[in-house]
Amino acid sequence: MAVLMHDTAANIETRVERFVRERLWPALERRRRPLDVTAWEVPDEPVPFAEAVRQTYVPTGPGAPWSKPWGTTWFHVTGEVPQGWGGPDVVAEVVVDLGFSARQPGFQAEGLVFRPDGSIVKGLEPLNNAVPAGPGPIDLYVEAASNPDVAGDAFTAPTPLGDKATAGSEPLYTLRRVDLVERDLTVYHLMRDVWTLTGLMRELDPSLPRRAEILRALERMCDAVDPDRVAETARDGREALAGVLASPAYPSAHRVVAVGHAHIDSAWLWPTRETIRKCARTFSNVLALMDEYPDFVFACSSAQQYAWIKQHYPELFERIRVRVAEGRFVPVGGMWVESDTNLPGGEALVRQFVHGKGFFLREFGHEPDEVWLPDSFGYTAALPQIVRAAGSHSFLTQKISWSETNRMPHHTFWWEGIDGSRVFTHFPPVDTYNSDLSGAELARAQRQYAERGLSNVSLVPFGFGDGGGGPTREMMEAAARTRSLEGSPTVEVGTPQRFFDEARSSHPAPATWSGEMYLELHRGTYTTQARTKQGNRRSEHLLREAELWWATAAWRGLGDYPYEELDAAWRTVLLQQFHDILPGSSIAWVHQEAERNYAALAGQLGALIDRAQRTLAGPGTSRVLFNAAPVEADGVPPLAAAVATPAGCVAPVASGDGWVLDNGVVRAGFDRDGLLVSFRAGRELVAEGEAAAVLQVFRDIPNRWDAWDLDAHYQRHVTELREADAVEAGADELVVRRSFHRSTFEQVFRLAEGADQLDIETWIDWHEQEKLLKLSFPLAVHADRAASEIQFGHVHRPTHANTSWDTARFETAAHRWVHVGEPGFGAAVANDSTYGHDITRRWTADGLTCTQVRQSLLRAPRFPDPHADQGRHVLRTVLRVAPTVLEALDSGYRLNLPVRAVEGGGPVEPLLRVSSPAVVVEAVKLAEDRSGDLVVRLYEARGGRASARVEVSESFARAWTTDLLERAPAEPVVQTSAWAADEPIEISFRPFEIVTLRLSRAA
Ligand SMILES: [Zn+2]
Repeated sequence: MAVLMHDTAANIETRVERFVRERLWPALERRRRPLDVTAWEVPDEPVPFAEAVRQTYVPTGPGAPWSKPWGTTWFHVTGEVPQGWGGPDVVAEVVVDLGFSARQPGFQAEGLVFRPDGSIVKGLEPLNNAVPAGPGPIDLYVEAASNPDVAGDAFTAPTPLGDKATAGSEPLYTLRRVDLVERDLTVYHLMRDVWTLTGLMRELDPSLPRRAEILRALERMCDAVDPDRVAETARDGREALAGVLASPAYPSAHRVVAVGHAHIDSAWLWPTRETIRKCARTFSNVLALMDEYPDFVFACSSAQQYAWIKQHYPELFERIRVRVAEGRFVPVGGMWVESDTNLPGGEALVRQFVHGKGFFLREFGHEPDEVWLPDSFGYTAALPQIVRAAGSHSFLTQKISWSETNRMPHHTFWWEGIDGSRVFTHFPPVDTYNSDLSGAELARAQRQYAERGLSNVSLVPFGFGDGGGGPTREMMEAAARTRSLEGSPTVEVGTPQRFFDEARSSHPAPATWSGEMYLELHRGTYTTQARTKQGNRRSEHLLREAELWWATAAWRGLGDYPYEELDAAWRTVLLQQFHDILPGSSIAWVHQEAERNYAALAGQLGALIDRAQRTLAGPGTSRVLFNAAPVEADGVPPLAAAVATPAGCVAPVASGDGWVLDNGVVRAGFDRDGLLVSFRAGRELVAEGEAAAVLQVFRDIPNRWDAWDLDAHYQRHVTELREADAVEAGADELVVRRSFHRSTFEQVFRLAEGADQLDIETWIDWHEQEKLLKLSFPLAVHADRAASEIQFGHVHRPTHANTSWDTARFETAAHRWVHVGEPGFGAAVANDSTYGHDITRRWTADGLTCTQVRQSLLRAPRFPDPHADQGRHVLRTVLRVAPTVLEALDSGYRLNLPVRAVEGGGPVEPLLRVSSPAVVVEAVKLAEDRSGDLVVRLYEARGGRASARVEVSESFARAWTTDLLERAPAEPVVQTSAWAADEPIEISFRPFEIVTLRLSRAA
């Protein structure tokens, strides 16, 4: 063996690679013959099978180009499996290559195979392009989608492919092959042996005998297989590897629970209509794989995706239902979609679970216990309470591993929310939700696992995701080979529940991470695609109004609650909170559709609200003002209507070379260029020598991900729009016109009689590229930290940059308001549709500190939508003197829920009154089960303890607290209280506690 000893490891590895590429691969197919193919190209949007099958097909074949971008071509494949094909070591298959590229499945051409009766066989993707062929005739239809590769390798270059109108009309793909083949199973398994062993070997330390042992076994395999008679000698090759494959794992090997998965983005570089087909392709692949591998388990989140399959592919849905009952197709997550969590409002985040879990319970009798958000862009500190109050106990994500600056110190830990609720959380240390169970990935999971020595198990989601595809048989073969393999983590295919049970029992005292899990990346997603964000904010508040007024009318016997309309509206809003729609990271097609959907919702919900209000106000000619906010507005009590006249606004008065708005409560001073140089309420709020409400334009050229990222270097290049084109003093407003480059701006300032807040309306006609627009408020407030509204409460974030964690948090998300304060004094900046903010310590010219609050109004990234944010926008901001967060909250609600006037008979008493200003009504609705029960969602808003009396205007039979799904509480975070008929309802709240109160009507 002397010769062998002189070979280097690298030489042997090169030999093995070449042997696999040139000898084993070609031997995989023992025989092949082309099949007959005819085609029909769909003129435009996809059609169902029943319609496609009736069309006239024309002959085609390999080499034929097919379908423009976003097009569909149906191929009809016919032939016969000849006598003598198939046998003990071979399997007959139809292999289709639609013109696949080397890119990952889901970002290119894809197919779905049907039988002539319309039943679905499976999907066709690169790396998963075979369909079983039985003996006898072959008769298959392939629905081929020519989805363009929108991103290519760059997430910065503008592309026309994201919009059907600009994507072009030249065929995108060329049909490469449609063959009947005989696959050699021994060669196939030999290749899988080599793949797993090679992957493992490369991860092992070169000094380990195990590594050399695998290398030598691979070498013996190359010797054992006759390169000219691979089929006849492949078995000898497998025997050469049998010894190293049989050697069991170390007792201390890291344990991996591998969960089959396909992270299908509900829209992203494709529209939702394509996601529906992606789901059909992936889920049918999964069902086919389940037939082949009895231990295969697949976890799938997003009730929306199941609902699409139920509607569009009922036959497939029934097959999924069977596998769900067996516990192999596992609905996880419990949300309607894998939503963003920074931006959705509190009630919307609750409804993600109400609608998601409601669907899973109704359709499958199954309630997911684990919240599944592998890919959202940071996680709100409100989530632990919402997860627990929705009846779930575990949380999984992976995205935090993308943080650029700091590494999360844990992989298995308790996550604690603003109210103190904790949820058991796992970040898969494999750092991907699309694993292929390769040696490299398994080794990474073991190497990175932070709880090493305390716990020894992690979850690995495997399967092609993002654009779909899902797990493949190669991945299942990898799992089988690494069940117990020396040097490798052990792999067991199992359910998420299986993982969480083991993780909990093996790690009884995990560490705790408190507060938000901020993603140190993708900070532009709080701002990109402002119209989509505004649509979301408006829709959330319109839904609140519609539910409140209809619940009030229904409980007074004045009308029937519009369950169907409200359900449908909620589902649109919930879908569009998906983590690539609301964050603004989708193609033009998706955002155009989202804006159309929001516009339609505004019309429908506006009509619903109007109908309820007219019903409640009764006939008459009085001007009745409805206030849906939980705070008094324009003299109208919360949740009520009154005959009232909103206060007018004061007229601007010239003063020196500027103007003043003064109502006796506050005084706003403007200079000759319309800059707000003073805002005084006893004390000056604008920092000395500074101006507030200043528009600032920044260079905004992200390093890598255009729509996603705002990188810190944006701060270095600012243009302040301090010069006015015109300042016009109207009867009740001051209008300032400004311009920059090709964009124009109009700032409208109004001060209402008696108000302590300045209303600022910003009209923008935006024609910039890669620029960021901010509105700046340097405030004479000394604040170490700022409060930002999140769902059902607020978070405090430091205004300084002491640590790397503070530094990395240079742009943050807030909901309706932010607040900075000193003891007994402070300021609020509220908005009607803005989420991105930065709130920092600044130094004025005289060296004193001030607190600078800035809203991020608009961006203009060029990828994936080259026209993002272009055109007209109207954004509203309020600057207010606010000693506490409750004044900020007051302004935030009133700005987002302006009173509505209708002509009617008279005032409307509120359905309920809440005695404590710290306790806020977030939703009033009728119960999801359509029993007619009233459901009221309340929360404590100051972050302290509070008690409140809830007075209900109508007689009730019983009242009790429930979980978020309106059920009897089963979780310690949900309080258990009940009241008899018309008994006074007194509730004690923990800090930031959410309470769901349910009342049944008196008979
Ligand atoms: Zn995603």
